[in-house]
Amino acid sequence: MKNSNYNTELWDEIPPYAFMALGRRGREQISLRECFVPSCNSTDEDKLHPIKKEIETTQIPDKNAQIKKVKYLIHCDECSNDFHLVFEQYINNEVRNEDDEGLDIVMEKVFATDSENKENYGEIGFIQQK
Ligand SMILES: [Zn+2]
Repeated sequence: MKNSNYNTELWDEIPPYAFMALGRRGREQISLRECFVPSCNSTDEDKLHPIKKEIETTQIPDKNAQIKKVKYLIHCDECSNDFHLVFEQYINNEVRNEDDEGLDIVMEKVFATDSENKENYGEIGFIQQK
C-alpha cells in the first residue's frame, strides 16, 4: 500500500545497525530495520516506512553540553502501528584541545518508544562512532 505520508529517503540517514556491548564477548550487531513494537518485532523491512524526523535539543544545566535527540517516526504494515526510533547524542561543547573541532559527540545510543513518546520500548544499543 502506498501512502504519500511516507518519507522513504529518511532511510538514507538512519544507521542500519546498532551495537550492544556483550562484555568480554565483544559486541552484538542489531539491525535497525525491524519493528520495535514489542508485540510485533517484524523483521520485514519492506513493511517499514519512515514518516518524519524530529530533533529535540536539551541543554544540560551547569555544563557546556547538550543532549540531542533525533526521532524518526516509522510505520509498520505488519502490526499497523507507528513507533519512534530515537537516537540520543550527548554532545560535549567543551573544546579543550587546540584543534577546534567544534561539536564532540561523546556517545550515541538508540532506543525505541511508541508513537506518542509515552511508552519506552527499551534501549536497543549504541551507534559506533568513527
Ligand atoms: Zn510492527
